[in-house]
Amino acid sequence: MSRTIVVIAEQRGGQLRQVTLETLRAAQWIRSEGDAVSVVAIGSNLTKLGNALATYDCDRIYLIDHADLEHYNPEAYYQALSPLLGELSPCAVLLGHTSIGRDLAPMIAARLQAGQISDVIAIDRGDDGMLPRFVRPIYAGKAFETIEAASDGPLVVTLRPNNVQPAAPREEGPAAQIVSVPYTPSASLRTMVRDVVRKTSGKVDLTEAKIVVSGGRGVKSAEGFRPLEELADVIGAAVGASRGACDAGYCDYALQIGQTGKVVTPEVYIACGISGAIQHLAGMSQSRIIIAINKDPDAPIFQIADYGIVGDLFEVVPLLTAEFKKALA
Ligand code: FAD
Repeated sequence: MSRTIVVIAEQRGGQLRQVTLETLRAAQWIRSEGDAVSVVAIGSNLTKLGNALATYDCDRIYLIDHADLEHYNPEAYYQALSPLLGELSPCAVLLGHTSIGRDLAPMIAARLQAGQISDVIAIDRGDDGMLPRFVRPIYAGKAFETIEAASDGPLVVTLRPNNVQPAAPREEGPAAQIVSVPYTPSASLRTMVRDVVRKTSGKVDLTEAKIVVSGGRGVKSAEGFRPLEELADVIGAAVGASRGACDAGYCDYALQIGQTGKVVTPEVYIACGISGAIQHLAGMSQSRIIIAINKDPDAPIFQIADYGIVGDLFEVVPLLTAEFKKALA
């Protein structure tokens, strides 16, 4: 029997977020022969986005395009999605493990009466006919568990960004069919997003960044983040922070990385003046290379760092910036 796997696309200002292509790749992996992969995008002015998506290997693209859906609103997005999910009755729905994905996934799981597997970092398809197995970190990243999908129920999966190669544009075959899905705003919506004020300049998106420079309480003030921002500018990194730095008012909570903040998996994570509490590690321990700068040689962050620099961050970081400037000139 033909089944449908649904990927919920994420976009910002009409630009497709890379995690969508990673999620699409995951859908291609778990599909069995004859399964259809459909991508659903919700937002406003989605024509360009739909055309861009059509160049990838999927069967159908559903666009729920309405001015009222320009900004993410959980209630409105769920209402827009719900009838389509009922119609498609998917065997799996895949989302990015992002703020939006984490918010929408449980609502979708409840709607479909599906099991949910969150924060997946790897998928093992195994031999032909085997059910996919999903790997996710547990105990704040100290261990991993592998979950096998039950054969008899729909599944909702959130995939941590930067863990799966993004899908590549299709090389042959017909372009995916684009389907417009009508949306009528409900008068009974209890919340309405009037405007979105971005607090972080965020040249590079933190959750998708290849390099993250993070500051902790050791930066000592909001001004203390300057050298980190300068380093980030030179190497094309995003700036993150520990909760210690956020709680102290040195930076916005939007930068917080960890158990109660964002989860990042960059190629390189540079921790400056961060002690390495387990709650912080939960958000960054899967980074490929971890560099720690701390003046305390016994700081726990050095236990998981690949490279450690014992020193004052206000001396070390400007030196790194100057060297990278020279190297990249
Ligand atoms: P500190 O632990 O104070 O460390 C500062 C470090 O800076 C020290 O190691 C010090 O040696 C170093 N330092 C000082 N000056 C310099 C200098 N000039 N040069 C170099 N190094 C210097 N934390 C998170 O980060 N993210 C979370 O999501 C999170 N969630 C939490 C959830 C719960 C339920 C709880 C209870 C806690 C959570 N925390 C979280 C808090 C966490 O336990 C730590 O308190 C926090 O991570 C500490 O931040 P920090 O490393 O910046 O500060």
